[in-house]
Amino acid sequence: MQDTLSIIKPDGVRKKIVGKILKRFEDNGFEIINPRYINLSKEEASEFYNIHKGKPFFDDLIIFMTSGPCLPFIIRGENAILRVRELMGSTDPDEAAPETIRADFADSIDSNVIHGSDSEQSAKREIRFFFG
Ligand code: AMP
Repeated sequence: MQDTLSIIKPDGVRKKIVGKILKRFEDNGFEIINPRYINLSKEEASEFYNIHKGKPFFDDLIIFMTSGPCLPFIIRGENAILRVRELMGSTDPDEAAPETIRADFADSIDSNVIHGSDSEQSAKREIRFFFG
């Protein structure tokens, strides 16, 4: 069993696809833990994405992540970190495999509906970030 951190980003909430996304994880045998809507402040979003500070997309990413409520939650299951990333598809929806969440719902690399931790270390840090 492994825990990973996912966030339905503000575009996913605006598109009213929260239920569809959570269902995909549940249909694949995962448990959804502690989903709750929050509004990230600029400071919180900058801290969460601090590894991207200084990159050309950083400012737009922070504006986007603070543009409305988002829904962080923990996903628990077998090999969750890797399998959740597979279910999400590539960061850029144009490169995402068919039937992945981003291929089906995301508009662009900037507006790509969902986040998932990329390693065990990130998952630990990101779960602590939102849930203490
Ligand atoms: P992550 O890769 O999960 O740390 O998240 C970085 C986020 O920044 C991605 O999910 C994208 O929404 C956004 N982003 C925008 N442009 C890029 C880019 N060129 N490379 C990576 N991420 C990007």
